[in-house]
Amino acid sequence: MSPRLTFLGTADSKGVPRFWCACPVCTDARAGGRNRRTRSAALIRGADPNGVPQTLLLDCGPDLHGQLARLPEPLVPDAVLISHAHNDHLLGLGDVLDYAASASGDGPTRGGVAPIAVYTPAEVLPQVAERFGYAFRHGAPVQVLPEEGLVTAGLRVRAFRVPHGANGYSYAFRLDRPGFAAAYVTDAIDIPQEVATRWLGDLDLLILGTSFADESAAAHAGRSVYDVREALALPWARSARRVYLTHLSHGVDVRALPLPVGWAFAQDGLELPLA
Ligand SMILES: [Zn+2]
Ligand SMILES: [Zn+2]
Repeated sequence: MSPRLTFLGTADSKGVPRFWCACPVCTDARAGGRNRRTRSAALIRGADPNGVPQTLLLDCGPDLHGQLARLPEPLVPDAVLISHAHNDHLLGLGDVLDYAASASGDGPTRGGVAPIAVYTPAEVLPQVAERFGYAFRHGAPVQVLPEEGLVTAGLRVRAFRVPHGANGYSYAFRLDRPGFAAAYVTDAIDIPQEVATRWLGDLDLLILGTSFADESAAAHAGRSVYDVREALALPWARSARRVYLTHLSHGVDVRALPLPVGWAFAQDGLELPLA
């Protein structure tokens, strides 16, 4: 069976609805409509070569507790990858560590399992340690993601560095299995051609963050994530066989914005085969 990816969250850093906002997208979200979304994270479920189930979580934002609680059955990810140390991708780390600790205790579901493996690129690790000082006091619950990546859930998973505009840098994830290549790129803008050539050419599936529909009126220097208009013009995005847009703010109305064939907006709970 091919591994499957579930979008746990598909919102930008502020979530949708935003506090106090009465725009049509936030109003739809408040009423439980299609625009309701939580902060970006994804779960990959697959199996090792012997058929043993393996689960990988990409990012752990502030909505993680609710995202995991909504799953139909209790699930402890075997590994967690953190793309960068921004609140909307990291603040659920406390819950990840808690979740793992309760699973390895005397819980009904998974007694005596190995501690959960949390990884982030070497460059990001000190920022994570600084933000979660209490958790690092007795050992390091987060380790450096090896350069060659991980092999888990039937995939080879590697991280690559991408520019995050005014916010510095982030990492994106490349997911490979024989005959299949995908990339998960939530927080990026102005990706240089050499990075795109190495990591983003000829993809079967591209998951790309686009915070707004069109930010051309904003100063480019102050921006940090592609908008939908730019994404539609990126040659490497256009060459991907399927594209799902995620990391969507209240500036994207998924009910109303037309996308070309092969492109779609991601939604919380949407599940895709990685095949
Ligand atoms: Zn983000
Ligand atoms: Zn970010």
